[in-house]
Amino acid sequence: MNPVALYRIARGCSWPVLRRIVVNFAWRGAGAVRAFEKRLQTGAPFFPAFLMLSITNQCQLRCRGCWVQPTTPPQQLSRQQLDALVEQANQQRSYFFGILGGEPLLYQDLLNFFATHPKCYFQLYTNGIALTHETAAKLARLGNVTPIISIEGLQEESARRRGREDVFQRAISALEASVQAGLFTGVAASITKQNFAELVSTDYLDLLVRRGVHYIWYYIYRPAGAHPEPENALDREQIKILRQFIVDQRRSAKLLIIDASWDHQGNALCPGATGISHHIAPSGAVEFCPPMQFCSGSLNATADNLKTILQEDDFLRQLRTFIADRTRGCILLEDPAALADFMRQHGAIDSSNRDALTELDQATVLPGHNDPDGIIPEKSWLYRLAKKYYFCGFGAYG
Ligand code: SF4
Repeated sequence: MNPVALYRIARGCSWPVLRRIVVNFAWRGAGAVRAFEKRLQTGAPFFPAFLMLSITNQCQLRCRGCWVQPTTPPQQLSRQQLDALVEQANQQRSYFFGILGGEPLLYQDLLNFFATHPKCYFQLYTNGIALTHETAAKLARLGNVTPIISIEGLQEESARRRGREDVFQRAISALEASVQAGLFTGVAASITKQNFAELVSTDYLDLLVRRGVHYIWYYIYRPAGAHPEPENALDREQIKILRQFIVDQRRSAKLLIIDASWDHQGNALCPGATGISHHIAPSGAVEFCPPMQFCSGSLNATADNLKTILQEDDFLRQLRTFIADRTRGCILLEDPAALADFMRQHGAIDSSNRDALTELDQATVLPGHNDPDGIIPEKSWLYRLAKKYYFCGFGAYG
């Protein structure tokens, strides 16, 4: 790892933000992973180390290939449910939450929610449109939130994919607001055929560094939703090039490069199948991961049935085993038909607000990140250690 990446974080983040990175994110995050591993080893009741919470299905955009289906009225988790989820997770020593939407900044009480849980750490996935200087300053005072702004391509590709001409510029303005406020600032990139050349490049990393960004999180695009673009998914060779790029650039880039697709040895992993994270949808559906919109049960009004769904209902346990038996990669890409069969056989509830089962039936088989013949081990020892003992997926979908 280039030490400049760490120096830039230390110089660029405000004191409250740095303190929360060290205590909430690093220290308590490591504790969450240890506690999760101990539960697995001792056969204690299952609870993931991290939860992804999609708190609302409202959004200002209608991006191609998005799996979130807006509804009227919007679906959203109540404050009571959110507080209850966090408290139950804290009892299991889990303090890290991915906050997704729709667009989570459209959730009215979001900042109060963050303020109510100062011991937790929240990774806020946002399109950046509502991330103003004022909001960024408030988040910086709280310290326990890292905004991760999705950028799906430069100007032209962002407009094509997300349906609005100004969306790239709005994301850049959000980065500026976040960086100026002293927040730990990230960028998420879902890599497609269309944006590959511009986002998997040192020029792009340099651009982000010049803008003050501290980390980039690379995802592999998964066609999903009512209007998937399977023709835009990466081919096997591109996935390999992406992996090689990540591994190489980690040694020299002046920002952190994150992925949740490969472990410290370069083997593919599916965070959902390991059980390290699961997802709660805006409707309260308890799901395997964000793009897999099926469940066997949903949260009640007080969310006090979470443990029952996670621990006593066998759907998620069987799904983890079913997937782990088939692939280390992403079953959504590699074997959608088998997944559809599983959902049918187990009478899974479609929690997509569309017809996710028909979508799975019609999905194209595509290469995923599991390539046993082309394993590319991590070169940077610091990333190796971090992946082995620490974040290894950090709750996100891979
Ligand atoms: S690898 Fe695929 S199935 Fe596994 S958590 Fe990620 S998106 Fe879900």
